[in-house]
Amino acid sequence: MTYIHDTIVKLQKTSPAQAEFYQAVEEVLDSLQPILETNEKYKKHAIIERMVEPERQIMFRVPWVDDQGNVQVNKGYRIEFNSALGPYKGGLRFHPSVNAGIIKFLGFEQIFKNALTGLPIGGGKGGANFDPKGKSDGEIMRFCQSFINELYRHIGPTKDVPAGDIGVGAREIGYMFGQYKRLTGNYDGVLTGKSLLWGGSLVRKEATGYGCVYFAQYMLEAKGDTLAGKRCLVSGAGNVAIYTIEKLYQLGAIPVTCSDSSGTVYHETGINLDTLKELKEVRKVRLNEYVAAHPEAKFIPATDYPADGNAVWRIPAQLAFPCATQNELSEADAKVLIANGVIGISEGANMPSTQEAVEVFLDAKISYGPGKAANAGGVATSQLEMAQNASMQRWSFEEVDEKLKVIMKDIFLNASETAAEFGEPHNLVLGANIAGFRKVADAMIEQGVV
Ligand code: NAP
Repeated sequence: MTYIHDTIVKLQKTSPAQAEFYQAVEEVLDSLQPILETNEKYKKHAIIERMVEPERQIMFRVPWVDDQGNVQVNKGYRIEFNSALGPYKGGLRFHPSVNAGIIKFLGFEQIFKNALTGLPIGGGKGGANFDPKGKSDGEIMRFCQSFINELYRHIGPTKDVPAGDIGVGAREIGYMFGQYKRLTGNYDGVLTGKSLLWGGSLVRKEATGYGCVYFAQYMLEAKGDTLAGKRCLVSGAGNVAIYTIEKLYQLGAIPVTCSDSSGTVYHETGINLDTLKELKEVRKVRLNEYVAAHPEAKFIPATDYPADGNAVWRIPAQLAFPCATQNELSEADAKVLIANGVIGISEGANMPSTQEAVEVFLDAKISYGPGKAANAGGVATSQLEMAQNASMQRWSFEEVDEKLKVIMKDIFLNASETAAEFGEPHNLVLGANIAGFRKVADAMIEQGVV
């Protein structure tokens, strides 16, 4: 379709060198073809042209002083993409790979994900090319304070509400909240993922991983199957991976892998969750230490990965949960997964499968839950945290978990019913993209040209 092609070509000219962003846009626009072809109004109102351009992009210098007294400088970003449905909402990522293109891909995905939750939140994303690895607590605090010294003027509980992502957990949110409070004098719900001691929501920490497993459960149930006894591959060893593994055990499945950037652990009888939490949440060390506690497990260093993919996906299993980072599952990985008899993929990470890998899953007609649907439990529970903060209430673990389950079921039904409406019932990529798009696009039309 030339409209879509022309949009991408224009983007490449006006926003050069943002490969991940083009990838995310192309994936969404490709699946919007059926709705764009039959609805002239979206073209008439230039919805696509407006949607691919962020409402506002904030880029700033983040200077800070390291423990040796040296001045360091990083680049900070907050991309406020779309506020048709509510205040901008989306995480902050601190990772050396962060650049404008990565934040724009994440922010663009966030628009549709947030719409799918059915909650009143717009889409945004931010972060910095700061590497928290190996930094002292004092360095992390000084960096977070400097980051907020600029960002505080752009955010607010009804304006833009950041949360965590890679490299940003409760500790970083705490330092950023403290500085925001000091600068503004306001104690409000400006950030989510806060500590349970001072305004955080129960289940927020667990929400993305739990939600991703609930999503897999609903995909399997629709085919008369369950998670019980299924061997599962999980990548990553951070927040999303850990709570994916926890929920898999609770629902009777057997997670046999986890990974970080140093390599993959394969534990045939099942990953020991206590060891994993100790290594990653308490000691914050590399995953190769896992085998010291469990010599029967195998550690595959990243240097031994196949040239065309990731060792974690080469292990036979029935389900796969990519929970580390973007483009961590290649076309070759996807083919091996299918050849090994995998029946379902539920993405905890954002855009972990390359576009070619997604094609392999869709062609094989296995259950495939794209990230923007399957990992929406995190942002949905962040919105529940905002609701609790605004009403000065605190809900129980069971109450929030129950709401999370209902939201994940609604997302699954919304994506699968929309996919069926457009004649491709198995295609949840198409279903999720069209369902999210329709909601945001119609809101934009009703709000006029802004
Ligand atoms: P995290 O706690 O920082 O953990 C990230 C994990 O992925 C770590 O084990 C990390 O290993 C690994 N990883 C990161 N980059 C990697 C790379 N290039 N190669 C191999 N491994 C890599 O972050 P998280 O919150 O779990 O986020 C994981 C994914 O979920 C991201 O795609 C994020 O956008 C998505 N997500 C998160 C949430 C949320 O609520 N946190 C919500 C929705 C989606 P190292 O420590 O060795 O780098």
